Amino acid sequence: MPARLLDGVAIGQAIRADVRPWVEELTREAGRPPGIALVLVGNDPASELYVGTKLKSAGESGIRADLERLPATAPLDDLLRLVDRLNRSDVHDGILVQSPLPRAMGPDAERRVFDAIDPAKDVDGLHPLNVGRLVQGRASLVACTPSGVIELLDRSGIEIAGARAVVIGRSDIVGKPMALLLLNRHATVTVCHSRTAGLPAVCREADILVAALGRAAFVTPEFVKPGATVIDVGTTRVEDRGFIEQLYAPGSKRHAAFERRGALVLGDVHPAVEEVAGALTPVPGGVGPLTIAMLLKNTVRAAHERLRIRA
Ligand code: NAP
Repeated sequence: MPARLLDGVAIGQAIRADVRPWVEELTREAGRPPGIALVLVGNDPASELYVGTKLKSAGESGIRADLERLPATAPLDDLLRLVDRLNRSDVHDGILVQSPLPRAMGPDAERRVFDAIDPAKDVDGLHPLNVGRLVQGRASLVACTPSGVIELLDRSGIEIAGARAVVIGRSDIVGKPMALLLLNRHATVTVCHSRTAGLPAVCREADILVAALGRAAFVTPEFVKPGATVIDVGTTRVEDRGFIEQLYAPGSKRHAAFERRGALVLGDVHPAVEEVAGALTPVPGGVGPLTIAMLLKNTVRAAHERLRIRA
């Protein structure tokens, strides 16, 4: 039997609907809407798209969203000065600096910038203080993608406590916070990465398998215990026709989409996993919409806490 598809679009809309009255209440109390500043350095097309979607979604939810741009050639000091200004802004409760930053900014630029954001406005949950709080199980601002995955599991009725969970990927933005959130919810968690030996066998132990490695269709049925829940975080743009045709037969819906666009965004999970998994997130329409919904929720949460501190 094919896996139940977990509908990230519908769950994302439900989260936004929950956020809406909270936005209205805060707007009444503070005399202004919750606000987020989105910082975009350079003009990487994927980043432009992500930031555009975030601006639109915030606007639709009644959240003030301002785009701050710097040229790709801007020195790191300019970005740090901008972050400092936004830290002191009264109308911005959240700050998100879109990554990746241009390489010319230097190898440790992202870390320096994330460290400079006021932890109370760190809606991406990347400041060391917020990461430390997450480790201790008392964070309020947590990275959006993994916290969206938890919402998705909860709202889909998938039990986390007691489950064996395997996370493939150990990045600061997805893999590590994902593992910590699952652990804090009483799953037994294994984190895998590029040096993990016997990866398919480790993954086959999972009741909940989270694939966050960024390698298209890498997770094949041999990685999946029958009936497991598989969460596909990966998004990789693929233009290689030969690769697409190994996955999707000519005439299928996905193949037709490839013909129209000349590319497809693929997840980390192979389409054949649908025949083995019990539940599965599609790409697109799975984790992506949740990331945005959680950004809105984090912004409102940050606004609420800042207001409470000032009261
Ligand atoms: P990342 O920083 O590149 O990290 C990838 C992780 O996967 C690393 O820990 C790496 O291991 C591991 N990995 C790579 N190849 C592997 C292999 N063959 N076997 C086992 N592990 C392997 O990526 P990220 O930022 O976490 O993002 C992961 C994916 O999620 C990307 O496709 C990204 O586009 C997507 N994403 C989607 C959303 C969304 O909203 N849908 C949000 C964020 C990210 P090492 O540590 O050993 O190198």
